[in-house]
Amino acid sequence: MLDLTPDRLVYEGKAKQVYRADNADEIVIHYKDDATAFNGVKKAQIADKGVINCKLSAFFMERMGAAGVPTAFLRQIGPRDQLCRKVEIIPVELVVRNVVAGSLAKRLGQPEGAKLARPLLEHFYKSDELNDPQINEEGAVLMGYAKAWELAAMREYSLIVNEQLQAFWGGLGVDLVDFKLEFGRFHGQVVLADEITPDGSRLWERGTGRKLDKDVFRRDLGDLSDTYREVYRRVFGESLPG
Ligand code: UDP
Repeated sequence: MLDLTPDRLVYEGKAKQVYRADNADEIVIHYKDDATAFNGVKKAQIADKGVINCKLSAFFMERMGAAGVPTAFLRQIGPRDQLCRKVEIIPVELVVRNVVAGSLAKRLGQPEGAKLARPLLEHFYKSDELNDPQINEEGAVLMGYAKAWELAAMREYSLIVNEQLQAFWGGLGVDLVDFKLEFGRFHGQVVLADEITPDGSRLWERGTGRKLDKDVFRRDLGDLSDTYREVYRRVFGESLPG
């Protein structure tokens, strides 16, 4: 049963709310239309973003499960709602990069767009107060953020996700430049959590370089709602109803 009464709200993030579910091992994730960038400094409401991202993430998480990556996703239970396993989020974000862009380009003073010979994995400590500083695996282990075996599992799963997503987007004529993943602990297992959406990915149309992701909002390149509708249309082969 989908019950989103305020007393069930357990957490509110920048783009999603988390509600208690009937089963103590599960939660309901509600996707909002809010978009934020630069750690919440830039904010806007993007029409239908929640509906689009909820369905996109459900679609990709199901595919990752089929490809052998354990995920927190169970099923979609409303237009912007998912039933998920209740995990303890591991405070280490994993960024997978196939092409130089974003903070990597900035940090190293390199232009965006150079293709990497193989995927580059980067780790960031998940902390809004600190602006998600980069950390290496040794540091993450010594600080107690994650166990070495958990980081190994995260690495292995991230590379599978990258192969799957690259193949999928490649089939649609879109280059997967980079993306961020979060993982959680569920009954002693590492599972893929959070979302797989254009909010946390860079997607460049092959040939034109058109951006089909949240950089459209971050960099004022156009209308993010229109962009996400376009992504929806390409992935599902039909326009978002309504
Ligand atoms: N990313 C994210 N959340 C973050 C930081 C990054 O989803 O807090 C995603 C971002 O959308 C991009 C990838 O991770 O697809 C790499 O981001 P980068 O480190 O280049 O940082 P950015 O330039 O987005 O600040």
